[in-house]
Amino acid sequence: MSTKFNIENLVRDNVKGLKPYSSARDEYVSDGSEMVFLDANENPFESGVNRYPDPQQRSLKSVLAKQKGVLVNNILLGNGSDEVLDLIFRAFCEPAIDNIISLPPTYGMYKVLSGINNIENREVLLTPDFEPDVTAILKAADLKSKILFLCSPNNPTGNVFSEDRIIQLLENFNGLVVIDEAYIDFSKEKSWVAQLKNYPNLIVTQTLSKAYGLAGIRLGICYASEAIIAVLNKIKPPYNVNELTQQKALERILDIDSVRSEVVSILHEREILSEVLLQVNFVEKVYKTDANFILAKVDDANMRYQQLVENGVVVRNRTSQPLCNNTLRFTVGTEKENKKLVKALKSI
Ligand SMILES: *Cc1c(COP(=O)(O)O)cnc(C)c1O
Repeated sequence: MSTKFNIENLVRDNVKGLKPYSSARDEYVSDGSEMVFLDANENPFESGVNRYPDPQQRSLKSVLAKQKGVLVNNILLGNGSDEVLDLIFRAFCEPAIDNIISLPPTYGMYKVLSGINNIENREVLLTPDFEPDVTAILKAADLKSKILFLCSPNNPTGNVFSEDRIIQLLENFNGLVVIDEAYIDFSKEKSWVAQLKNYPNLIVTQTLSKAYGLAGIRLGICYASEAIIAVLNKIKPPYNVNELTQQKALERILDIDSVRSEVVSILHEREILSEVLLQVNFVEKVYKTDANFILAKVDDANMRYQQLVENGVVVRNRTSQPLCNNTLRFTVGTEKENKKLVKALKSI
């Protein structure tokens, strides 16, 4: 696909003609000299947040670009991955005409966003070992299939998809391939960000909500070609990442060592928890995981979920998801929290 790929063929007609909204903060960019800002109708009394935030989040992006080995122009930031994913829908999918492909059991937002944006969601089940069914996906696709969502490591199953299958899809699917890497920091596998140059149809999304421990500030990251990022920039709300989020995120990504040490600790706890789960008499299977959660098959998920709640522990019941009959998803907590879970599991 790489030779004949042209992003213009995928962009919605109304978006093609748009120019990005130019805010006060876009029009005059400070060169560091002392200026009086009377251009944005802000309250002049300093509070730390009385000014509008940088609409292009330059400081944050320049650090991310360095860390990930991409250009600033390969990055778009949003109010969580959820906003990033919504922008991708709105830039490329014509309501009531186009479709997307998602692979259940997977993250629920692809379906939710397809509903909100009035885009058909063609669901192609993962194989029994939770891999993309390449043949079935390509068969389900047509000229109106704009986006294929691959969640790897996948939520709720926890596995990374095989590199081989992802490459086959990147090379043969005639739309955009979004790889949702919300859990990549917990995986031994490499991020697909390094492959952006090789695949003009690739979009990789990441988030500060999981490994970075910042779910509350809402920061989602999109990595893609400069051409794709330019399209998304046309439709993003100018101040979609607030000042407090930008500050907090910057502080955290500069302190990458603490992030790494927390991840190491979570991975250590994950191994302990996997082993304990295997010994619980009503646990029938513990799935291999590359994320900060463990999916396990039990005898009766609804009953065990309820019993855990009665013992003060809330897990995620995934039994209604396809291929996930009688499964529970356990997020790995702190050592203390996991001990409470283990105690509850043993007392049931
Ligand atoms: C948790 C999660 C996200 C995170 O979304 P945010 O809006 O950034 O918090 C994205 N994708 C998947 C698959 C997730 O599980």
